[in-house]
Amino acid sequence: MINVACSYPNCQNPVIGQCAGFEKSCGRYYCAVHSEDRLCFECAIEKNEALVQAEYARIAQDVTKRAARSLWKEGLLAIGVIFFVIFLGINGGDSVTNVLPFWLPLLMIVGVNFWFMLAVTKRQSQWAQDVGKDLPGFENFYAIWRKNKNKNDLMKSLQIAGGIAVVALGIGAAVQRQGAIDDLHKIRRALEKY
Ligand SMILES: [Zn+2]
Ligand SMILES: [Zn+2]
Repeated sequence: MINVACSYPNCQNPVIGQCAGFEKSCGRYYCAVHSEDRLCFECAIEKNEALVQAEYARIAQDVTKRAARSLWKEGLLAIGVIFFVIFLGINGGDSVTNVLPFWLPLLMIVGVNFWFMLAVTKRQSQWAQDVGKDLPGFENFYAIWRKNKNKNDLMKSLQIAGGIAVVALGIGAAVQRQGAIDDLHKIRRALEKY
């Protein structure tokens, strides 16, 4: 016999529907408390986590781009140094090439590049840390996102960070979710300043 009861453990509430499934079929039954948008509580959690992860990934991309762009002065300086070195190499004549080994300009170009990449990486980490003050677990999420964009690893980083996973459903969850959404809006406004 099919057990027509809410899929939430030990829930005795009347069943009001069958789960449509999130990104896969489900078919579990749910009551009015343990459901959301025709999803059972488990699928609702998956959906909310996926939404949060997508939003975090979007902000991570934003932080990456904006942090790099915010270093345009340093970037110009780096390009300037590189051109100066190339200019020295071309126009230095014998007096300079006698003093400077031929590989020095090359080494400097590599060095300047390396220094700039470090500056960008450092700025990105700083910003991720700042964003993390408003968005729980973002700093950790960003560190993983920058290295690999594996969905499961990212999801784990969110779960370990806790807080952000919208676990409870019902009125409490609505408040929690609204809080998370408000936080995301706050971050986006903060990012607009840069
Ligand atoms: Zn229930
Ligand atoms: Zn379900």
